[in-house]
Amino acid sequence: MNNIVAKLNSRGVKIEDIAVITHDLQKSYNNATYEECEQMVMEILAKRETIYTILTAIALDESAEKGLFDEEVNQLITTDNSLYGLDEILALSIVNLSGSIALTNFGYLDKSKPGIIGKLDREGKQKIKCHTFLDDIICALAASAASRIAHKKGIQ
Ligand code: MG
Repeated sequence: MNNIVAKLNSRGVKIEDIAVITHDLQKSYNNATYEECEQMVMEILAKRETIYTILTAIALDESAEKGLFDEEVNQLITTDNSLYGLDEILALSIVNLSGSIALTNFGYLDKSKPGIIGKLDREGKQKIKCHTFLDDIICALAASAASRIAHKKGIQ
């Protein structure tokens, strides 16, 4: 668990960055506090298949930064080609563990890019780093945490 938090930190993402987005997603529907949102993000991060998905996503981004793939594939990833789509597909393996609210939240975050998601997107477009896979992972984590809070609290 500490390892995955440290890995996310090394790519510029803090748990608070994800929890803030989760809190914003849910605040119109229930009284979940920021602390509850942060706790739920940590619960999502405790699942081993989620950890493996995140590690794989970051490894793909880092490998593309180093130019380790065939030129065409490397180009698709580093330019975040909008027809590529495998970054979303990988992130959906996290979303799929948390039900349909997670799925609709994921689509919304992918389009609106609030907070750290937008920051990662901009860093990627400016070629500072490659975050093609990670930005979708953050969408998935925030969307999944919000979905689980909705199911826990019900709609009020
Ligand atoms: Mg992406």
